[in-house]
Amino acid sequence: MTARQIDGKQIAADLRAAIALGVDELEEAHRVTPGLAVVLVGEDPASQVYVRNKGKATLEAGMKSFEHKLPATTTQAELLEIVQRLNADDSIDGILVQLPLPKHIDASAVLDAIHPDKDVDGFHPINAGRLAIGRPGLVPCTPSGSMRLIRSVEPKLAGKHAVVIGRSNIVGKPMGQLLLAADCTVTIAHSKTADLPAMARQADILIAAVGRPEMVTGDWVKQGAIVIDVGINRVPAAEGKTKLVGDVQYASAAAKAGAITPVPGGVGPMTIACLLENTLRAAKLRRGIKL
Ligand code: NAD
Repeated sequence: MTARQIDGKQIAADLRAAIALGVDELEEAHRVTPGLAVVLVGEDPASQVYVRNKGKATLEAGMKSFEHKLPATTTQAELLEIVQRLNADDSIDGILVQLPLPKHIDASAVLDAIHPDKDVDGFHPINAGRLAIGRPGLVPCTPSGSMRLIRSVEPKLAGKHAVVIGRSNIVGKPMGQLLLAADCTVTIAHSKTADLPAMARQADILIAAVGRPEMVTGDWVKQGAIVIDVGINRVPAAEGKTKLVGDVQYASAAAKAGAITPVPGGVGPMTIACLLENTLRAAKLRRGIKL
């Protein structure tokens, strides 16, 4: 079998177009333009690219974008004060503090300070709790984007065995919760899981969110499975250059899978689209407007 490639770029573009329409409708009906504030501390080159792309996508969706670029020497107290200001600012519907933060800042303290109703990354304990108990809230973007990709090839998820490799708070755990909410039987595997390849081979839906280049090979994949590769790893390539690869060895996995996401062009574009979706959602939820 050669897998169908799941086109995250196209699915994300369609979602962004739908969000832009939603923004227009919100403006027309309620005179509200959603606003997203992104806070970047320091000069991490990858973070700078992410923040620039998020700002651009926000404007393209017809929303307001606010960027706060702070020096690496910013203290935790100064950052918390900015977060509090954004919490109180009615023109801001979503607040995102770009991770990683410099070592002298406690990231949990900063994320916990974001008002849960403006927490468009979905990392606040209140939103993690809402997700765990099935209440409406703001869901982390990468897992919710991955769910959309899964549903694009298989709308009937009930009873499927999903194996998520990775148990981080931002990807693995919320991914498991979303799959559970979709009536899958969920296994969350991690670095201490015994015989990981055998576990992965049981999966109808296999999610790799590890951060290890091409760890998942074709012999880990059940015939016909849906494979979602969340990993983004920069590795050396020819002529001293580098390239991006996922956590899945694409060619061998595609020979077994029924459908598979590429890297780049799979989960990555969905993350920004779902961030915009969360911002529109936050703008509505905060004002009691029907979703
Ligand atoms: P993380 O380092 O916080 O978590 C990695 C998880 O993988 C851990 O739970 C760990 O138990 C597990 N793990 C580590 N080594 C393992 C092994 N040998 N076998 C099995 N499990 C192992 O990482 P994260 O933030 O969850 O991100 C995971 C990957 O996803 C990274 O490559 C990251 O760059 C990527 N990512 C992509 C997007 C996107 O938009 N596409 C967003 C977030 C993260």
